[in-house]
Amino acid sequence: MTGSEIRARFLEYFRRRGHTVVRSSPLVPAQDPTLLFTNAGMVQFKSVFLGEERRGYVRATTAQKCVRAGGKHNDLENVGHTARHHTFFEMLGNFSFGDYFKEDAIRFCWELLTEDFGLPKDRLKATVFTDDDAAFGLWKTVAGLSEDRILRLGEKDNFWAMGDTGPCGPCSEVHFHQGDHLPCAEEQAGRACLGPACDCDRWLEIWNLVFMQYNRDASGAMTPLPKPSIDTGMGLERVAAVLQGKQSNYDTDLFRPLIARVEELCGKPYGREEAADVSMRVIADHARAATFLITDGVTPSNEWRGYVLRRIMRRAMRHGRMLGMSEPFLWDMTGRVVSVMGDAYPEIREAQARVAEAVRQEEERFAETLDLGMAKIREYLDEHRGAASRVVDGRFLFTLYDTHGFPSDLAQEVLADAGFTVTPETQRAFDAEMEAQRERARAGASFGGDSGDPSVAIYQRLSGELARPVFLGYGALTAPARILAMVADGQRRREARPGETVEVILDRTPAYAESGGQQGDTGTVVGREGQGRIEDTYYRGSQLIVHRVRMTQGQLREGEEVAVTVESRRRQGLRQHHTGTHLLHAALRKVLGTHVAQAGSLVAPDHLRFDFSHGGSVKDSELEDVEGLVNEQVQANVVVSPAEMDLQEALKSGAMALFGEKYGDRVRVIRIGDFSTELCGGTHLDATGQIGLFKVTDEGAVASGVRRIEAVTGEHALAHVGREEAALRESAGLLKIPPLELPRRLAALLEDQKRLEKQLSQLEGKLARSQAQDLASSVKQIAGVPLLTARLDGLDPDGLRSVVDTLRDRVPSGIILLGSAADGKVNLVAAVSKDLTKRFPAGRLVQEIARMVGGGGGGRPDLAQAGGKDPSKLDEALAAAAGWVERTAQG
Ligand SMILES: [Zn+2]
Ligand SMILES: [Zn+2]
Repeated sequence: MTGSEIRARFLEYFRRRGHTVVRSSPLVPAQDPTLLFTNAGMVQFKSVFLGEERRGYVRATTAQKCVRAGGKHNDLENVGHTARHHTFFEMLGNFSFGDYFKEDAIRFCWELLTEDFGLPKDRLKATVFTDDDAAFGLWKTVAGLSEDRILRLGEKDNFWAMGDTGPCGPCSEVHFHQGDHLPCAEEQAGRACLGPACDCDRWLEIWNLVFMQYNRDASGAMTPLPKPSIDTGMGLERVAAVLQGKQSNYDTDLFRPLIARVEELCGKPYGREEAADVSMRVIADHARAATFLITDGVTPSNEWRGYVLRRIMRRAMRHGRMLGMSEPFLWDMTGRVVSVMGDAYPEIREAQARVAEAVRQEEERFAETLDLGMAKIREYLDEHRGAASRVVDGRFLFTLYDTHGFPSDLAQEVLADAGFTVTPETQRAFDAEMEAQRERARAGASFGGDSGDPSVAIYQRLSGELARPVFLGYGALTAPARILAMVADGQRRREARPGETVEVILDRTPAYAESGGQQGDTGTVVGREGQGRIEDTYYRGSQLIVHRVRMTQGQLREGEEVAVTVESRRRQGLRQHHTGTHLLHAALRKVLGTHVAQAGSLVAPDHLRFDFSHGGSVKDSELEDVEGLVNEQVQANVVVSPAEMDLQEALKSGAMALFGEKYGDRVRVIRIGDFSTELCGGTHLDATGQIGLFKVTDEGAVASGVRRIEAVTGEHALAHVGREEAALRESAGLLKIPPLELPRRLAALLEDQKRLEKQLSQLEGKLARSQAQDLASSVKQIAGVPLLTARLDGLDPDGLRSVVDTLRDRVPSGIILLGSAADGKVNLVAAVSKDLTKRFPAGRLVQEIARMVGGGGGGRPDLAQAGGKDPSKLDEALAAAAGWVERTAQG
């Protein structure tokens, strides 16, 4: 039975038993912004299990794409070395949401395995949770298993929980007997194999049934759920291996075509040598992960999901190099993945070109990294050739890794080949540098500025002492407040004097601190004895709102009451561009597709910049549609309604959350009619009409798979349109036509120009021929050799050569040297007839003459050309040709 047949039969089995076949959710989990990747079938049903959401069905079945690669470092490093570790895998599952429970779950499982899949009953065993007598009994009555084939296991193996609190319950697993001839670590250690409880492959777990029957509260107490549920999972790769009688998942038809492609690409056979086999399995596995992750909108980068993807891809590339492939190959593998899995997951077929391109770009980038790193390693080896110690300096490895992104294990390999060794000392130095760098990054990221900023320590202290300032700026632009603290030059300050710039922390403020891409507010702080201008507002740490205040008059004191006012015009511009950003985001998803995800955003008072994931380019017509959709919403003057709610509630309502952003329990949701809903803390307009007009000013690529749109709103959009109109009017004025006729007229003019250029070059040719006729009469005899020199200003090298060609007919034996001054430069062309090239090579002549005009050049003995920088010496230089001929004739 092929992998595809197993997948189809599984879904069909449950469909016939009242289950709705639900499509796999994307690998980037929409419901859970804190989860790295979708890693199980139940992820997309989490809110249904929690009772927060109802769907139109109570039974579901899926083939879910999953990725497990984050978390423990070793997960990824194991892949390729074992028969069953994968980064990407498929999970087959059936789910009951308060509908059927243990009895049907066990019945379905047993029936499907033994009848539809035809597994021999005597090679199956079940496990249940220690005290789950109900499940124990059901395996006896429903499946007819004898008691010695049902094992009771403890909490570690057979109890499942969604989290520290929430739904949980016992599990039950089915194990398949692969044979006692397989190696077992227990037995090798002189103990007995533990059967299904053993880590060895003799008994292979193939299906896990979770009986969700309790709710656990914060105290750890478990109460029965009113409607218990079922969540099951069976790894497709694993069950395929069992049904196809293979010891390794990689020997199934899900992987063999991929490994076959690696064999073709590297020209080595699989199964000959273990190291090469590991590399081939790594590439097969990682090609699947890369294809599916990029399809679902992840792009290789240095952050979070993108970083995990980059690590997976680079690991595959390294293994490619180990197989001797120095050219990009992984992009080719993605095509094979599509041909194996494109029928089950049509989205990868749709994204095929985009995926291949993204992978190829990453491969090229990695090749550059490797080249650069290898050069650094060669330098290091040169420097340390004669050194007494052959121990690699850990700091050097760190610099390679940190500055150049060169993988440290690869560096170690190369250095080892050159006779250098890596010791624990190397590793300690490397780790110390890494830790120091992490520390710097933490301090820097959290408290602003770089690590050298002396204020960082103060703010770390202050954020412990002070309460989080209250932000009033959603409603008010001016408010009374108290100065809690002031900081300048890394010192706490009791007062600020005229001309000084201090960072001011208030107990409450209407000023918005830069976050979520929106720039900070400016404004004024007015106290009893003086005032200052707020030049910027931003966070120090995650709590403290800091105002950078330049004193304009008198002084401000710690503890005093002040009036704070936000500059309203600038704020209005920020509101317009922020609301415009949300409309743009929603419009992009409608026009380009829901794979569009925000990758970066800048909201300034006079423009906005929006980066988003999208493979390929954005067509002009698509950009027009996007702009049109936004302006439609602007004209409809839709009310913008902010609301505070629980995070879960917000996500349930379909709000777009930005992955990588951290949200508290209470979040702010900005809803714009039913056009856009986003989690956002920014300041927005009351209604979209206040945007006035939305204009895209620029669109392009910023990285592979990431596009950038720049746009303006309101008066800035009007000004932009005004500037474009003025340019149009000016252009139209030059042609004395109405602006709308410009495109047609310009096309005609360009056509004319092409025609004229052609005529011109024909005329130039004629002219050159007639000049040549005149010139031919000025041939001089120098030492018995005919020499013709002439200056033809304005001709470029091509022009000169065409004159030379004509002259050669008229001077069958002799030397021709032409020069011209054009655009402040000198061009020289020399030609020598065949009978004279031995004695008077053209290259030598032109070199000698070019030197006099500050240049150089050369060429064949019969034709050579050169350039120079000094036209004032041209006459003198041409005249010198006679002397050269004379000297050369004598010599
Ligand atoms: Zn064992
Ligand atoms: Zn926003």
